[in-house]
Amino acid sequence: MVDTTTIEEFKASLRGELIQPNDEGYDDARKVWNGTFDRKPVIIVRCVSTSDVINAVNFARDKTLLISVKGGGHNVAGTAVCDDGMMIDLSLMRRVNVDKRNRTARVDGGALLGDVDHETQLHGLAVSAGIVSHTGVGGLALGGGFGWISRKYGLSVDNLISAEVVTADGRLVTASAEENPDLFWGVRGGGGNFGVVTSFEFKCAEIGTEVYSGLIIKKFENAKKYMQFHREYVRKLPDEMTVWMVVRHAPPLPFLPKDVHGKMIVVVPFVWLGGQPDGEKLLKPIREITEPHGEAIGMNSWVGWQSGFDGLVDHGARNYWKSHHLEELSDGCIDKIIEFAGKMPTDECEVFIPHMEGAPSRVPENETAFAHRKTPFVLNIHTRWRNGSDDERCLAWARDFHSSTQEYAKGVYVNFISDMGEDRAKEAYTSPVWNRIVELKNK
Ligand SMILES: Cc1cc2nc3c(=O)[nH]c(=O)nc-3n(C[C@H](O)[C@H](O)[C@H](O)COP(=O)(O)OP(=O)(O)OC[C@H]3O[C@@H](n4cnc5c(N)ncnc54)[C@H](O)[C@@H]3O)c2cc1C
Repeated sequence: MVDTTTIEEFKASLRGELIQPNDEGYDDARKVWNGTFDRKPVIIVRCVSTSDVINAVNFARDKTLLISVKGGGHNVAGTAVCDDGMMIDLSLMRRVNVDKRNRTARVDGGALLGDVDHETQLHGLAVSAGIVSHTGVGGLALGGGFGWISRKYGLSVDNLISAEVVTADGRLVTASAEENPDLFWGVRGGGGNFGVVTSFEFKCAEIGTEVYSGLIIKKFENAKKYMQFHREYVRKLPDEMTVWMVVRHAPPLPFLPKDVHGKMIVVVPFVWLGGQPDGEKLLKPIREITEPHGEAIGMNSWVGWQSGFDGLVDHGARNYWKSHHLEELSDGCIDKIIEFAGKMPTDECEVFIPHMEGAPSRVPENETAFAHRKTPFVLNIHTRWRNGSDDERCLAWARDFHSSTQEYAKGVYVNFISDMGEDRAKEAYTSPVWNRIVELKNK
């Protein structure tokens, strides 16, 4: 309970906006990507500057209000928004400044991946990050951050040079190899729990403005044969080539025959960071192993490719993810994937299987708080639906699928956890890393 005069004084001290439950815009401001969440903070502070963030942290601490921080709002566990506390909303802080000469980018804590791509691409540069342009840099980079170029250039956390952090006591500190190195260790994979990051400084990769990339669509009836091939093939590829797998119902893609739309398919998307002729040679075995339904391959603008999947995962639907890292894609595991994919509860669900090895796995496991670096694959069971009446069967499908593949799993990516309790969060870390995270958090 905070009295009106105190709130008015606080509001007047801000450069950004303060929104309360009866204010216009309240319901929009508290929305996050996952439509399952309907949490109601008592105060939303839409910060426009570091001083606003410090002000908000100090106010919440003084009034013992719970704080949640919203970057892009994408976290599937809805951790950007809290009930009855203060939401520090960074979505008005999205500036990206690129230092072309030193190939670095300074990125505000509320920027989206699309903001970063648009600015870095003016110079043919890119920051290693995720694959959907409306994802927030904040949560992604604090948890790890992988995408199409991370096999070659490392995770987002491996490219972080420094972060400006407002800590719980309202101080603004720099976390880097030289300053507050323990905090720098923690913000590289420990999740968004050590303070509010007002800006990140990243190393950029020189990738040019177009990449040889595309989709090959395989028939679901040949899924086992394709997956048995895929598990060996991708592990022999150079780091410049990233090939993943997605099992789902076919969207109405223009290059697919109409009778395939809506059918189960295996999508094989790829990005090659090299010349087209060499990329074509590397792809030949994929094209030959089983007959495709169709393909769309070519030189694509990086910005276009990075936003090409946005529409399939737009804001507002109900979502529940179950995930783990896989030690192998054994025949038993493949059988389970095919069995559960065959009974997907809705047309919007996906089974997403990225291949992770490369630069990230060459970083020693304790060097950052991102712990599981050696496992070759991730299995992300992405359940997505529209009506609350479908909750039960959608959740049951994901949970059964997940537990039936548990024997092939080791750990989980913290950014892919839906049921965020202490036990589950622990699975994202090895025990030495977890203990160090707890120690740092206490500090
Ligand atoms: C459609 C979709 C696609 C995705 N694709 C990828 C992918 O390709 N690669 C990948 O690695 N991950 C991916 N993810 C997972 C993504 O990394 C997480 O959802 C991440 O939490 C998103 O960050 P956010 O800032 O958008 O989310 P938010 O929900 O705003 O934040 C997530 C957590 O981080 C905290 N946080 C956010 N910003 C800050 C900040 N500046 N300072 C302090 N704490 C902060 C929040 O408090 C919250 O606890 C994807 C997620 C979705 C929904």
